[in-house]
Amino acid sequence: MPNQLLLALSRCRSLRGFAESSRLGRRISRRFVAGLTLEDALAAAGACRAAGFATTLDHLGENVTNAAEARAAAQSAVASLEALAARGLDANVSVKLTQFGLAVSEGGEQLAEENLAAVGRRARDLGGFVRVDMEESRYTDATLRLVLAAHSQGWPVGTVLQAYLHRSAADLERLAAQGVRVRLVKGAYHEPAHIAIQNKAEVDANYLRLMRRLLEAGNFPAFATHDPKMIAAVQERARELRLASDRFEFQMLYGIRRDLQHELRRHGWGMRVYIPYGTEWYPYFMRRLAERPANLLFLLRNLPR
Ligand SMILES: Cc1cc2nc3c(=O)[nH]c(=O)nc-3n(C[C@H](O)[C@H](O)[C@H](O)COP(=O)(O)OP(=O)(O)OC[C@H]3O[C@@H](n4cnc5c(N)ncnc54)[C@H](O)[C@@H]3O)c2cc1C
Repeated sequence: MPNQLLLALSRCRSLRGFAESSRLGRRISRRFVAGLTLEDALAAAGACRAAGFATTLDHLGENVTNAAEARAAAQSAVASLEALAARGLDANVSVKLTQFGLAVSEGGEQLAEENLAAVGRRARDLGGFVRVDMEESRYTDATLRLVLAAHSQGWPVGTVLQAYLHRSAADLERLAAQGVRVRLVKGAYHEPAHIAIQNKAEVDANYLRLMRRLLEAGNFPAFATHDPKMIAAVQERARELRLASDRFEFQMLYGIRRDLQHELRRHGWGMRVYIPYGTEWYPYFMRRLAERPANLLFLLRNLPR
Protein backbone atom coordinates (compact mmCIF):
# COMPACT_ATOMS: atom_id res chain seq x y z
CA MET A 1 0.00 0.00 0.00
CA PRO A 2 1.93 3.13 -1.12
CA ASN A 3 -0.17 5.45 1.04
CA GLN A 4 0.57 3.47 4.23
CA LEU A 5 4.26 3.40 3.37
CA LEU A 6 4.22 7.17 2.87
CA LEU A 7 2.38 7.67 6.18
CA ALA A 8 5.00 5.48 7.90
CA LEU A 9 7.79 7.51 6.25
CA SER A 10 6.09 10.72 7.45
CA ARG A 11 7.12 9.64 10.98
CA CYS A 12 10.72 8.70 10.06
CA ARG A 13 13.03 11.09 11.93
CA SER A 14 16.22 10.51 9.93
CA LEU A 15 14.50 11.00 6.58
CA ARG A 16 12.80 14.09 8.00
CA GLY A 17 16.13 15.58 9.14
CA PHE A 18 17.68 14.94 5.76
CA ALA A 19 14.71 16.28 3.76
CA GLU A 20 14.19 19.45 5.80
CA SER A 21 17.86 20.41 5.70
CA SER A 22 18.48 19.70 2.02
CA ARG A 23 18.01 22.34 -0.68
CA LEU A 24 16.41 19.83 -2.99
CA GLY A 25 13.90 18.84 -0.31
CA ARG A 26 12.94 22.44 0.28
CA ARG A 27 12.47 23.08 -3.43
CA ILE A 28 10.26 20.01 -3.82
CA SER A 29 8.19 20.98 -0.77
CA ARG A 30 7.24 24.26 -2.48
CA ARG A 31 4.49 22.35 -4.26
CA PHE A 32 2.42 22.24 -1.04
CA VAL A 33 4.22 24.63 1.35
CA ALA A 34 4.21 28.41 0.83
CA GLY A 35 7.78 28.91 2.05
CA LEU A 36 10.01 28.82 5.09
CA THR A 37 9.18 32.18 6.70
CA LEU A 38 6.19 34.21 7.86
CA GLU A 39 7.00 36.71 5.11
CA ASP A 40 6.61 33.93 2.52
CA ALA A 41 3.25 32.99 4.04
CA LEU A 42 2.05 36.61 4.11
CA ALA A 43 2.97 36.99 0.44
CA ALA A 44 0.96 33.84 -0.37
CA ALA A 45 -1.97 35.10 1.72
CA GLY A 46 -1.88 38.45 -0.11
CA ALA A 47 -1.94 36.69 -3.47
CA CYS A 48 -4.84 34.48 -2.36
CA ARG A 49 -6.77 37.47 -1.16
CA ALA A 50 -6.22 39.25 -4.47
CA ALA A 51 -7.75 36.18 -6.13
CA GLY A 52 -10.80 36.41 -3.85
CA PHE A 53 -9.94 33.67 -1.35
CA ALA A 54 -10.02 33.80 2.43
CA THR A 55 -6.96 32.24 4.08
CA THR A 56 -5.73 30.51 7.20
CA LEU A 57 -2.02 30.38 8.05
CA ASP A 58 -0.41 27.30 9.56
CA HIS A 59 3.12 27.59 10.95
CA LEU A 60 4.11 23.96 10.53
CA GLY A 61 5.27 21.95 13.49
CA GLU A 62 3.91 19.14 15.64
CA ASN A 63 4.83 16.90 18.55
CA VAL A 64 7.18 19.34 20.26
CA THR A 65 8.95 17.75 23.21
CA ASN A 66 9.52 20.60 25.66
CA ALA A 67 7.82 23.66 27.12
CA ALA A 68 10.16 26.19 25.52
CA GLU A 69 9.41 24.93 22.00
CA ALA A 70 5.69 24.86 22.78
CA ARG A 71 5.72 28.49 23.99
CA ALA A 72 7.71 29.52 20.93
CA ALA A 73 5.03 27.92 18.73
CA ALA A 74 2.30 29.88 20.51
CA GLN A 75 4.30 33.11 20.16
CA SER A 76 4.69 32.39 16.49
CA ALA A 77 0.91 31.98 16.10
CA VAL A 78 0.39 35.30 17.90
CA ALA A 79 2.98 36.94 15.62
CA SER A 80 1.14 35.55 12.57
CA LEU A 81 -2.17 36.95 13.81
CA GLU A 82 -0.59 40.36 14.42
CA ALA A 83 1.18 40.47 11.05
CA LEU A 84 -2.00 39.45 9.22
CA ALA A 85 -4.08 42.08 11.01
CA ALA A 86 -1.43 44.76 10.38
CA ARG A 87 -1.67 44.07 6.65
CA GLY A 88 -5.45 44.02 6.62
CA LEU A 89 -5.49 40.27 5.86
CA ASP A 90 -7.64 37.63 7.57
CA ALA A 91 -6.30 37.23 11.14
CA ASN A 92 -7.00 33.51 10.93
CA VAL A 93 -4.55 30.78 11.95
CA SER A 94 -4.65 26.99 12.17
CA VAL A 95 -2.71 25.43 15.03
CA LYS A 96 -1.95 21.95 16.37
CA LEU A 97 -2.10 21.25 20.08
CA THR A 98 0.91 18.91 19.95
CA GLN A 99 2.77 21.96 18.67
CA PHE A 100 1.60 23.77 21.81
CA GLY A 101 2.88 21.03 24.10
CA LEU A 102 0.05 18.48 24.31
CA ALA A 103 2.45 15.56 23.70
CA VAL A 104 4.95 16.69 26.36
CA SER A 105 5.00 13.84 28.88
CA GLU A 106 4.61 15.84 32.12
CA GLY A 107 1.90 18.52 32.26
CA GLY A 108 1.45 18.56 28.49
CA GLU A 109 -2.29 19.23 28.57
CA GLN A 110 -1.92 22.21 30.88
CA LEU A 111 0.91 23.60 28.79
CA ALA A 112 -1.18 23.32 25.63
CA GLU A 113 -4.13 24.93 27.40
CA GLU A 114 -2.03 27.93 28.47
CA ASN A 115 -0.61 28.35 24.99
CA LEU A 116 -4.02 28.06 23.37
CA ALA A 117 -5.31 30.69 25.82
CA ALA A 118 -2.54 33.12 24.81
CA VAL A 119 -3.37 32.72 21.12
CA GLY A 120 -7.15 32.72 21.68
CA ARG A 121 -7.00 35.98 23.66
CA ARG A 122 -4.93 37.72 21.01
CA ALA A 123 -7.26 36.47 18.26
CA ARG A 124 -10.22 37.91 20.15
CA ASP A 125 -8.50 41.30 20.53
CA LEU A 126 -7.72 41.38 16.80
CA GLY A 127 -11.15 40.14 15.68
CA GLY A 128 -9.49 36.99 14.35
CA PHE A 129 -10.03 33.25 14.61
CA VAL A 130 -8.04 30.19 15.73
CA ARG A 131 -8.76 26.78 14.21
CA VAL A 132 -7.39 23.87 16.21
CA ASP A 133 -6.50 21.12 13.74
CA MET A 134 -7.40 17.55 14.70
CA GLU A 135 -4.45 15.16 14.96
CA GLU A 136 -4.19 11.42 15.72
CA SER A 137 -7.04 9.87 17.68
CA ARG A 138 -5.01 9.60 20.89
CA TYR A 139 -5.34 13.41 21.09
CA THR A 140 -9.04 13.73 20.19
CA ASP A 141 -10.41 13.80 23.75
CA ALA A 142 -7.87 16.35 24.99
CA THR A 143 -8.31 18.49 21.87
CA LEU A 144 -12.06 18.67 22.34
CA ARG A 145 -11.68 19.37 26.04
CA LEU A 146 -9.29 22.28 25.44
CA VAL A 147 -11.29 23.71 22.55
CA LEU A 148 -14.53 23.62 24.56
CA ALA A 149 -12.76 25.27 27.51
CA ALA A 150 -11.31 28.02 25.29
CA HIS A 151 -14.65 28.59 23.59
CA SER A 152 -16.39 28.90 26.97
CA GLN A 153 -13.98 31.78 27.79
CA GLY A 154 -15.34 33.67 24.78
CA TRP A 155 -12.25 33.21 22.62
CA PRO A 156 -12.80 32.68 18.88
CA VAL A 157 -11.60 29.08 18.76
CA GLY A 158 -13.01 26.29 16.59
CA THR A 159 -11.86 22.81 15.70
CA VAL A 160 -12.02 19.95 13.21
CA LEU A 161 -13.97 16.70 12.97
CA GLN A 162 -12.68 13.74 10.97
CA ALA A 163 -15.31 11.75 9.08
CA TYR A 164 -13.27 8.53 9.37
CA LEU A 165 -13.65 8.40 13.18
CA HIS A 166 -16.55 6.31 14.50
CA ARG A 167 -17.01 8.84 17.29
CA SER A 168 -17.42 11.99 15.16
CA ALA A 169 -21.25 12.05 15.03
CA ALA A 170 -21.37 12.18 18.84
CA ASP A 171 -18.59 14.79 18.98
CA LEU A 172 -20.47 16.90 16.46
CA GLU A 173 -23.49 17.06 18.79
CA ARG A 174 -21.28 18.14 21.73
CA LEU A 175 -19.67 20.90 19.68
CA ALA A 176 -22.94 22.03 18.10
CA ALA A 177 -24.60 22.27 21.52
CA GLN A 178 -21.90 24.75 22.61
CA GLY A 179 -21.83 26.66 19.30
CA VAL A 180 -18.23 25.70 18.47
CA ARG A 181 -17.38 26.13 14.79
CA VAL A 182 -16.36 22.95 12.97
CA ARG A 183 -14.24 22.21 9.93
CA LEU A 184 -15.19 18.81 8.50
CA VAL A 185 -12.44 16.68 6.90
CA LYS A 186 -12.15 13.03 5.91
CA GLY A 187 -9.10 12.42 8.14
CA ALA A 188 -5.39 12.22 7.35
CA TYR A 189 -3.80 9.75 9.83
CA HIS A 190 -3.43 6.00 9.97
CA GLU A 191 -5.96 4.68 12.52
CA PRO A 192 -7.01 1.11 13.44
CA ALA A 193 -10.43 -0.32 12.52
CA HIS A 194 -11.92 -0.09 16.00
CA ILE A 195 -11.31 3.67 15.91
CA ALA A 196 -11.75 4.65 12.28
CA ILE A 197 -13.75 3.50 9.27
CA GLN A 198 -11.33 1.78 6.86
CA ASN A 199 -13.43 1.71 3.71
CA LYS A 200 -13.19 4.88 1.59
CA ALA A 201 -16.81 4.74 0.35
CA GLU A 202 -18.00 4.48 3.96
CA VAL A 203 -15.83 7.43 5.01
CA ASP A 204 -17.41 9.43 2.18
CA ALA A 205 -20.91 8.37 3.29
CA ASN A 206 -20.14 9.47 6.85
CA TYR A 207 -18.73 12.77 5.54
CA LEU A 208 -22.08 13.38 3.83
CA ARG A 209 -24.09 12.53 6.97
CA LEU A 210 -21.97 14.85 9.12
CA MET A 211 -22.08 17.56 6.44
CA ARG A 212 -25.91 17.54 6.46
CA ARG A 213 -26.03 17.78 10.23
CA LEU A 214 -23.51 20.65 10.28
CA LEU A 215 -25.46 22.63 7.71
CA GLU A 216 -28.64 22.17 9.73
CA ALA A 217 -26.86 23.19 12.96
CA GLY A 218 -25.93 26.38 11.08
CA ASN A 219 -22.78 27.57 12.85
CA PHE A 220 -20.71 28.60 9.83
CA PRO A 221 -19.30 25.12 9.13
CA ALA A 222 -16.29 24.66 6.87
CA PHE A 223 -16.15 21.78 4.40
CA ALA A 224 -12.49 21.03 3.82
CA THR A 225 -12.16 18.68 0.89
CA HIS A 226 -10.86 18.51 -2.68
CA ASP A 227 -13.43 15.88 -3.58
CA PRO A 228 -15.85 17.16 -6.25
CA LYS A 229 -18.51 14.66 -5.05
CA MET A 230 -18.47 16.03 -1.52
CA ILE A 231 -18.50 19.61 -2.80
CA ALA A 232 -21.49 18.98 -5.10
CA ALA A 233 -23.38 17.35 -2.23
CA VAL A 234 -22.75 20.37 0.04
CA GLN A 235 -24.00 22.71 -2.67
CA GLU A 236 -27.10 20.62 -3.27
CA ARG A 237 -27.96 20.41 0.43
CA ALA A 238 -27.37 24.17 0.89
CA ARG A 239 -29.78 24.86 -1.96
CA GLU A 240 -32.40 22.53 -0.43
CA LEU A 241 -32.07 24.35 2.89
CA ARG A 242 -32.09 27.72 1.07
CA LEU A 243 -28.85 28.61 2.85
CA ALA A 244 -27.00 31.63 1.48
CA SER A 245 -23.43 30.90 0.36
CA ASP A 246 -22.04 33.12 3.14
CA ARG A 247 -23.38 30.78 5.84
CA PHE A 248 -20.60 28.23 5.36
CA GLU A 249 -17.36 27.88 3.42
CA PHE A 250 -15.22 25.46 1.50
CA GLN A 251 -11.58 25.01 2.41
CA MET A 252 -8.71 23.51 0.43
CA LEU A 253 -4.99 23.14 0.92
CA TYR A 254 -2.46 25.44 -0.68
CA GLY A 255 -1.32 24.04 -4.02
CA ILE A 256 -4.01 21.36 -4.30
CA ARG A 257 -6.76 21.53 -6.93
CA ARG A 258 -6.15 25.23 -7.65
CA ASP A 259 -8.48 24.87 -10.66
CA LEU A 260 -11.34 23.82 -8.41
CA GLN A 261 -10.57 26.58 -5.90
CA HIS A 262 -10.92 29.21 -8.63
CA GLU A 263 -14.02 27.60 -10.07
CA LEU A 264 -15.81 27.67 -6.71
CA ARG A 265 -14.86 31.30 -6.20
CA ARG A 266 -16.03 32.25 -9.71
CA HIS A 267 -19.42 30.77 -8.89
CA GLY A 268 -19.72 32.81 -5.70
CA TRP A 269 -18.93 30.15 -3.08
CA GLY A 270 -16.85 31.03 -0.02
CA MET A 271 -13.40 29.48 -0.38
CA ARG A 272 -10.58 29.52 2.18
CA VAL A 273 -7.07 28.37 1.36
CA TYR A 274 -5.01 26.72 4.11
CA ILE A 275 -1.47 28.09 3.80
CA PRO A 276 1.26 26.07 5.54
CA TYR A 277 4.75 27.49 5.96
CA GLY A 278 7.90 26.96 8.00
CA THR A 279 11.01 24.86 8.16
CA GLU A 280 9.24 21.82 9.67
CA TRP A 281 7.34 20.91 6.56
CA TYR A 282 8.23 17.23 6.21
CA PRO A 283 5.37 15.38 8.08
CA TYR A 284 2.74 17.66 6.51
CA PHE A 285 4.23 17.21 3.04
CA MET A 286 4.37 13.40 3.39
CA ARG A 287 0.71 13.23 4.48
CA ARG A 288 -0.21 15.11 1.29
CA LEU A 289 1.74 12.57 -0.77
CA ALA A 290 0.03 9.73 1.11
CA GLU A 291 -3.39 11.12 0.18
CA ARG A 292 -2.51 10.89 -3.46
CA PRO A 293 0.58 8.78 -4.17
CA ALA A 294 0.32 9.86 -7.83
CA ASN A 295 1.74 13.18 -6.60
CA LEU A 296 4.99 11.38 -5.92
CA LEU A 297 5.34 10.47 -9.61
CA PHE A 298 4.42 14.02 -10.56
CA LEU A 299 7.12 15.44 -8.27
CA LEU A 300 9.76 12.96 -9.40
CA ARG A 301 9.05 13.73 -13.04
CA ASN A 302 9.36 17.46 -12.33
CA LEU A 303 12.46 17.32 -10.13
CA PRO A 304 14.34 20.59 -10.34
CA ARG A 305 17.52 19.99 -12.39
C1 LIG B 1 -8.26 22.95 4.68
C2 LIG B 1 -7.97 21.55 5.14
C3 LIG B 1 -7.68 21.33 6.47
C4 LIG B 1 -7.44 20.02 6.92
N1 LIG B 1 -7.26 19.78 8.27
C5 LIG B 1 -7.14 18.51 8.71
C6 LIG B 1 -7.08 18.22 10.11
O1 LIG B 1 -7.12 19.10 10.97
N2 LIG B 1 -6.98 16.92 10.48
C7 LIG B 1 -6.96 15.89 9.56
O2 LIG B 1 -6.90 14.72 9.96
N3 LIG B 1 -7.00 16.16 8.24
C8 LIG B 1 -7.08 17.42 7.79
N4 LIG B 1 -7.16 17.66 6.45
C9 LIG B 1 -6.87 16.56 5.48
C10 LIG B 1 -8.09 15.73 5.19
O3 LIG B 1 -8.40 14.92 6.31
C11 LIG B 1 -7.84 14.80 3.98
O4 LIG B 1 -6.79 13.94 4.28
C12 LIG B 1 -7.53 15.53 2.69
O5 LIG B 1 -8.28 16.68 2.55
C13 LIG B 1 -7.81 14.60 1.48
O6 LIG B 1 -9.16 14.27 1.46
P1 LIG B 1 -10.21 14.89 0.40
O7 LIG B 1 -11.45 15.24 1.15
O8 LIG B 1 -9.59 16.00 -0.32
O9 LIG B 1 -10.64 13.70 -0.54
P2 LIG B 1 -9.91 12.42 -1.16
O10 LIG B 1 -10.95 11.37 -1.24
O11 LIG B 1 -8.61 12.10 -0.49
O12 LIG B 1 -9.58 12.94 -2.61
C14 LIG B 1 -10.57 13.39 -3.52
C15 LIG B 1 -9.90 14.03 -4.71
O13 LIG B 1 -9.23 15.21 -4.25
C16 LIG B 1 -8.00 15.38 -4.92
N5 LIG B 1 -6.92 15.33 -3.92
C17 LIG B 1 -7.02 14.96 -2.63
N6 LIG B 1 -5.84 15.05 -1.98
C18 LIG B 1 -4.97 15.47 -2.90
C19 LIG B 1 -3.58 15.75 -2.87
N7 LIG B 1 -2.85 15.59 -1.76
N8 LIG B 1 -3.00 16.16 -4.02
C20 LIG B 1 -3.72 16.33 -5.16
N9 LIG B 1 -5.05 16.06 -5.25
C21 LIG B 1 -5.65 15.65 -4.15
C22 LIG B 1 -7.90 14.28 -5.92
O14 LIG B 1 -8.47 14.74 -7.14
C23 LIG B 1 -8.80 13.21 -5.33
O15 LIG B 1 -9.30 12.34 -6.30
C24 LIG B 1 -7.44 18.94 5.98
C25 LIG B 1 -7.76 19.19 4.65
C26 LIG B 1 -8.04 20.46 4.22
C27 LIG B 1 -8.42 20.67 2.79
